Amino acid sequence: MIDHEALFKISYGLYIVSSGDKENGNGFISNTVFQVTSKPAKFAIGCNKDNYSSEIIEKSGLFSVSILQQETDSEIFGRFGFKSGRDFNKMDGMDIKYGETGVPIVLNNSIAYLECKVTEKIDIGTHWLFIGEVLNAEILQEDVDPITYSYYRQIKKGTSPKNAPTYVDKTESKPKVESTDSKKYECDVCGYVYDESEEGMSFEDLPDDWTCPLCGAGKEEFTEIK
Ligand code: FE
Repeated sequence: MIDHEALFKISYGLYIVSSGDKENGNGFISNTVFQVTSKPAKFAIGCNKDNYSSEIIEKSGLFSVSILQQETDSEIFGRFGFKSGRDFNKMDGMDIKYGETGVPIVLNNSIAYLECKVTEKIDIGTHWLFIGEVLNAEILQEDVDPITYSYYRQIKKGTSPKNAPTYVDKTESKPKVESTDSKKYECDVCGYVYDESEEGMSFEDLPDDWTCPLCGAGKEEFTEIK
């Protein structure tokens, strides 16, 4: 048997893997980024064959890896993790640097980046494993921790950071939503569930500018789960 919780005990980081060029750039959130050799320095990345990024990486033969900081804005996960570059240009409005090869590199919330040229492509079924040689690498922020996948999953489970609008100080005596009346709302963008009985506040009472703690979508993107 496979206990999938055991698989989550492997530690990972979270990265934006970008590819393409100035006119046609795209990026996606990946946890499968790992170094495979040191001389020369080569990294492997996994990319679903259905992803728009797979097309662009194949076409350009390039990719960059932006290493995200621990306190990465949820908007970044929404934009690069839950939406397709076939629907809109994910690079619009982002702070982008173009590498020596012309590959876009996302600088927002990044502590370092790698610029890589694809040297091998391995078919692993649902995904391509692209291997790239590092051409350039630079630190953008010293002394800032990278985000780990387990940290991200903790947020997904609903333990919001203190500065997030969803944070509820359970030690304060606030009027609780009666559990019999409590409702659940699901984010149409990323699937995050706002459970009134857990949050202690009705969804309707959240401020208008409240956003999904996972992907940054607005209240209007939520649908009540009946
Ligand atoms: Fe969301």
